[in-house]
Amino acid sequence: MLDFDALRAPSPHTNESHDTWRRTVRGFVDREIAPFVDAWDEAGAFPRELHRKAAETGLIGLGFPEAYGGVKEGTDVFHSIIAMEELSRPGAGGLPAGLMTHGIGLPPVIALGSEVLKQRIAPPVLAGEKLIALCVTEPSGGSDVANLRTRATRKGDRYIVNGEKTYITTGLRADYLTVAVRTGAEGAGGLSFLLVEADREGVSRTGLKKMGWWMSDTASIHFDDVEVPAENLIGEENAGFAGIVANFNMERLNMAAQSLAFSRACVEDAAAWARERNAFGKPLSKHQAIRHKFADMIRMVKAATTYLDHCAWRVREGAAPVADLSLLKVQATRTMEFCAREAMQIIGGASYMRGCRVERIYREVRVMAIGGGSEEIMNDLAARQLGL
Ligand SMILES: Cc1cc2nc3c(=O)[nH]c(=O)nc-3n(C[C@H](O)[C@H](O)[C@H](O)COP(=O)(O)OP(=O)(O)OC[C@H]3O[C@@H](n4cnc5c(N)ncnc54)[C@H](O)[C@@H]3O)c2cc1C
Repeated sequence: MLDFDALRAPSPHTNESHDTWRRTVRGFVDREIAPFVDAWDEAGAFPRELHRKAAETGLIGLGFPEAYGGVKEGTDVFHSIIAMEELSRPGAGGLPAGLMTHGIGLPPVIALGSEVLKQRIAPPVLAGEKLIALCVTEPSGGSDVANLRTRATRKGDRYIVNGEKTYITTGLRADYLTVAVRTGAEGAGGLSFLLVEADREGVSRTGLKKMGWWMSDTASIHFDDVEVPAENLIGEENAGFAGIVANFNMERLNMAAQSLAFSRACVEDAAAWARERNAFGKPLSKHQAIRHKFADMIRMVKAATTYLDHCAWRVREGAAPVADLSLLKVQATRTMEFCAREAMQIIGGASYMRGCRVERIYREVRVMAIGGGSEEIMNDLAARQLGL
């Protein structure tokens, strides 16, 4: 069979608890998400209520400490990967991006924030009642994080924030903003994280139209003399760069898991089509040129999924395999790019029509290859980590 499940090489690192979790998430997605993604994407939004429902299922709290309303005991990184794969199965990238933004916005608060800050911010986020976004990228550049310009100047017991962030996922709807700011000198040693409540005076937000991820809002956010209490500092002043970089590791692993789930969705839809569609007197799947496309796609999907499991296993063992995570992200997004292209070729004109899962996945390839660390940055980071 060439369906979504059969295309995933079985993982040697998972057990019954992972299988149970996959069934739980799949049931939730089939019931609450899959039937609606086309309409939500066309409407440019999904119901806010979905965050609360996802929290009740354990999706929002997954991996976060119980002390703040999370679900950590008995779970590991493979539960996160399974969540990402299942949320990506409907083939609408805006859904996991918008529903799970706290997965990049909250970890700095949990890892570095004061106990008071954690107790204030995390429980409502993990209950799906409040939304949090991560604000790193600026109009002057996203890759060169060490040179970001948004400045927070200490004045007594407050910081005054001025600057601009852009391409921020959930930037319009978020209640809390985890903002990378410059508090010190130029370069990586002058950066900090600051928690900014989005309703503070001087915060203004503008929505951005984009190629894909329509149901996930994306915003430019301006900070104009925004006063923030000093206790909103996340971690030590001028020690934020390490936190920014550490936050990328899980983001990249999760993006790789999503990209490979999208790849499997492409192969599944192309295979169903190729078996049904006749051309020149026989099903498309019986033409050698088409069969070879499938062989190429399946080979790439299985190889990359095995690499995903290897990287996740190392993370579970306590390693931070930066080079492998970077290479994995590139491999996964190139696999998605290849599968989206070949699936479109196999499905032909129908693949160009709205409502076809592959049409949307094709439009959403680039954001996976650019966001969270672009191909060029990932390849160079890996090469440098490997001593070149
Ligand atoms: C839909 C969407 C959602 C996003 N959500 C968020 C979010 O929630 N929070 C957030 O902070 N950011 C977010 N981003 C931003 C994303 O992380 C950045 O787009 C990404 O990091 C690249 O930054 P940039 O777009 O400024 O490109 P640039 O950094 O300007 O780079 C442009 C191109 O030049 C290449 N390049 C740059 N430097 C080098 C080099 N040294 N060598 C070779 N090539 C190089 C890059 O690979 C890229 O191809 C989002 C982006 C998109 C599109």
